[in-house]
Amino acid sequence: MRAADPACLFCRIVAGEIPATRVHDDEALIAIRDIAPRAPTHVLFMPREHIPSAADLTADDGPMLGALFGAAAEFARSEGIADTGYRMVTNIGAWGGQTVDHLHVHLLGGRSMSWPPG
Ligand code: AMP
Ligand code: ZN
Repeated sequence: MRAADPACLFCRIVAGEIPATRVHDDEALIAIRDIAPRAPTHVLFMPREHIPSAADLTADDGPMLGALFGAAAEFARSEGIADTGYRMVTNIGAWGGQTVDHLHVHLLGGRSMSWPPG
């Protein structure tokens, strides 16, 4: 179990120290509405554990990742965006567009997406 980082915004959201709108919460994961949504539905799925980015994942994280994508699919159905489709993406490092160094996977939906991202 990686230790929480007291300076990490998402560790503090996981701990309930900073408010967020939770749409999923279990022993391994939470999901919150993005504070600056880039689509009608924009949710961030993240492990409770402080993992800086997807570049830090190991094979031991497989069950957590499976649970994350499973929870996201269930959420998309409940949000009514599953049939039209949606995008899941994780940014890594500065050029990848990562601004919060606690692994999170964006779920964006409710509109048609373009490709490639900017
Ligand atoms: P990234 O740039 O991929 O690291 O994504 C970080 C995301 O976190 C951005 O989409 C931000 O809008 C979002 N964000 C930042 N602060 C908060 C917050 N307090 N609550 C919810 N989302 C946040
Ligand atoms: Zn963290």
